[in-house]
Amino acid sequence: MPRVAVISDIHGNLHALRAVLEAIHHARIRDIVCLGDIVGYGPHPGLCIDLVMEHCHIVIRGNHEDAVVDPACAAGFNATARHAIDWTRNTLSPEQRETLRMLPAVATLHRRVLCVHDSPTPGPTGYLHNSQLAALAFRGLHTPICLVGHTHVPMVFEAPSRLSYPEWEEIASYGLRDGSGHPLNSGRRYICNPGSVGQPRDSDPRASWAVLDLDRAEFILHRVEYDIEAAKMASRRAGLPARLGERLAIGA
Ligand code: ZN
Repeated sequence: MPRVAVISDIHGNLHALRAVLEAIHHARIRDIVCLGDIVGYGPHPGLCIDLVMEHCHIVIRGNHEDAVVDPACAAGFNATARHAIDWTRNTLSPEQRETLRMLPAVATLHRRVLCVHDSPTPGPTGYLHNSQLAALAFRGLHTPICLVGHTHVPMVFEAPSRLSYPEWEEIASYGLRDGSGHPLNSGRRYICNPGSVGQPRDSDPRASWAVLDLDRAEFILHRVEYDIEAAKMASRRAGLPARLGERLAIGA
């Protein structure tokens, strides 16, 4: 498996998902890993589930899938997110809800790459936004590479391999832009985040995805334009809170 496309946090945004799948097809990549949060926020959760299950060979369960399956998991959500997840739960078919329930929380790719939604360290380490939080996450990582989503911000954290419990000062963090590749050197460990397909939060509203190239030892970020106006309109038409459509245009 030389190259794998990595997608995450689609959040029911069908317009963004279609644009990314097309870009992956153009890049001639067959294998796709989805790191979860297929649903929540956006107006097309069912169609996104169907497309992801058709095209991705690894699909991880995110916290929004958890909240669809078990409403108690939405307790920590803000009012807008909870409104959207209740709407999502009622929109999906029983089969689609069952599909989400059956998704694994963890998967391993080629014995070298751990795939999770938020962090390789179970517990409330939550959003890996900085080196302090990443240092805790590395404690639970026993493979050279980990793929995570959840923050909606494309990023790579890098730690020395010799340290099972690195201090945060030993963690390097790198933001990623369109077309930028980050080398994955042996002797180092990495936590790589492809950003969000359907609700980017790094001020770049374009859909975000990445390529994990294991032969060339590189993690490369890509951004794709999609019809944000159409996505906003679909959100409005579905009766979802206006804020959810508006934030798509500013990538926040
Ligand atoms: Zn998410």
